[in-house]
Amino acid sequence: MSFSHRLLLRQLRRHGATETSPPADWPAFLATVESAYIQSDADRHLLDRAMKISSKELGAAIDRLKQQNIRNESVLEKLRASVQALHLAEGPAADGKDDLLVLAGMLEDLIQQRKQTETALRAAMQSAESANRAKSDFLANMSHEIRTPMNAIIGMSSLLLDLPLSSEQRDYVETIRNSGDALLDIINDVLDFSKIEAGRLELESHPFDLRLCVEQVLDLFTSRAAEKGIELGLYIEGNVPDMVTCDSTRVRQVLVNLVGNAVKFTEQGGITVAVGADGTDDGWTLSFAVEDSGIGIPADRMDRLFKSFSQVDASTSRRYGGTGLGLAISARLVELLGGRFTVTSEPSRGTCFQFTVKAGVAAAESGDTGAIATVDLRSTHFLVVDDNKINRRILDRQLSHWGIKVTCVPDGPAALVEFERGTSFDLVLLDYQMPGMNGLEVASFLRSRPDLTVPPIILLTSRSGLDHSASPLVAAQMTKPVKPRELYSAIMQVLKFCMLKPVTSAQLVPIYDRHFSTRYPLRILIAEDNVVNRKVILLMLEKLGYRADTSANGLEALQCLARQPYELVLMDMQMPEMDGLEATRRFRALVPIDQPPYILALTANARVEDYNACINAGMQDFLTKPVRIDDLMVALTRACTWNQADNRPTVRAWPELAV
Ligand code: ATP
Ligand code: MG
Repeated sequence: MSFSHRLLLRQLRRHGATETSPPADWPAFLATVESAYIQSDADRHLLDRAMKISSKELGAAIDRLKQQNIRNESVLEKLRASVQALHLAEGPAADGKDDLLVLAGMLEDLIQQRKQTETALRAAMQSAESANRAKSDFLANMSHEIRTPMNAIIGMSSLLLDLPLSSEQRDYVETIRNSGDALLDIINDVLDFSKIEAGRLELESHPFDLRLCVEQVLDLFTSRAAEKGIELGLYIEGNVPDMVTCDSTRVRQVLVNLVGNAVKFTEQGGITVAVGADGTDDGWTLSFAVEDSGIGIPADRMDRLFKSFSQVDASTSRRYGGTGLGLAISARLVELLGGRFTVTSEPSRGTCFQFTVKAGVAAAESGDTGAIATVDLRSTHFLVVDDNKINRRILDRQLSHWGIKVTCVPDGPAALVEFERGTSFDLVLLDYQMPGMNGLEVASFLRSRPDLTVPPIILLTSRSGLDHSASPLVAAQMTKPVKPRELYSAIMQVLKFCMLKPVTSAQLVPIYDRHFSTRYPLRILIAEDNVVNRKVILLMLEKLGYRADTSANGLEALQCLARQPYELVLMDMQMPEMDGLEATRRFRALVPIDQPPYILALTANARVEDYNACINAGMQDFLTKPVRIDDLMVALTRACTWNQADNRPTVRAWPELAV
């Protein structure tokens, strides 16, 4: 029925007519109908406009509600249908107005509903938070309770292991000890996890040495990787700042888990840890990548990785141990540290976990290695001999970064080819464990060929015990994973040393070695007035197997030298009564410069003027304080070689020492 029909019927009824009987007063009826029509036209017009506006507004309101994620689809649908009905309606019928009322009611309902949902949500969240807090409080208490006896278990089993035990007893105690450690790890993980869940994990921000932090993480896994026969390599980009500000404990924790996983899930090949940095105006982003050649993760299992207590498949725990908490914690920590976590993997080929963290730079931008550059590496050419592709790649990248020209070969025969071809190298980095010829065999083979010019060799080994039999063949040995800073300083020392003497038989061992004095015997006199410094140098020498005499000033030193012969004097410059320069001058007035002892200045004065003063006074060598053990060791080998030589070079030239 059309609008005009309905209007007509209504007027008829008002005038007492029905559909069958006409109204009594026709003129009055017609007049009313006419005015009603006129009125209704105006009304219709107004209502039409009103409805158009309101339906538009309602449509927009509905969209807004949708955008705000109001999920009550059925209400929204009803609203939409009503608006459509309004659009279609012919005119301002009563049911059209009713529709508007219905809509208004629905909107009101919706708003009420939303308010109720919000209140319910807030209440649920509050109760979840308090439940979480209660859970983490409980866990904290529990962990404290568990830790107390654990401390005794771990402590006492360690003490027991120090006693003489039968192998059976040792086995039992070691099992107790290892299980204790494993349990403690789990407790720590659970506690961390619940702290993060309860939003209670507070990050710290302090300056720390990033390289050292990463190196220490790798140290934890060196022996486990060596046992499994897999390589562990580290590459640090040149622009990575030395000192950064961040939470070192948490960065370390993530790295420990990732490297631990990589070692756990890799049976052959190797693991590379790479560190990079990207500096922008608002701080630094450090990026870490741990790449392994292990079992990999199937694509359809990736989603399980970051879930707590979840492992890729049920047999993981049985075969490899672990609780499946490590990655869940790591991912949350990385998020808290302002970074991102990504993983790529291919089953049976390997996995690469990458993450970033935001950090500040603690000190002014510093150099690459922390080591002092004493030799210009840019004109040098090194040969890298390593069967492992990953290691070759890392060494190549690292050495090239220092400006060194690098040639990489996979084995001894290939190295021989390089030498026979007449390529001239300044240094060889030689891997120990290689199929066919091992590193030492390669070194001895190369050295046995008088027709070849073989430069100093640095031997890289995964074996923890250093092999002293290597000493005549190699200039230094380093334990893998080779850390950039240590490699740099070893290269510097070997090259520095070799400038004085083209050596084949020096050995640098970067750890204290009691037999060092047997290989480099020296009678040593220390002239040093400071009691603490004297003690330090004495202890260092003692650790290397030397027993040195001491004197507290230049005068006493001269008295000692008059009493008995020495091969080396460690001479402080500034001393009371008589300083080191004066004592040396007086001594050299009696004993020429090419006669023992070798006099080594040990001084806190590190300028070229100080060096010149020492050399002019008649000293041979110059070391600055604080003295590092490896520098001291190089100096000792130098002193020994000097003493044994027929034609003694007089002094070491300053450019090699230039700081
Ligand atoms: P936890 O770290 O708690 O001792 P976990 O190492 O098993 O135990 P996560 O570190 O969370 O736990 O790792 C979860 C799972 O992801 C592992 O159990 C393993 O199945 C898979 N996974 C992690 N890292 C690797 C990897 N490098 N290669 C292959 N699978 C991995
Ligand atoms: Mg793990």
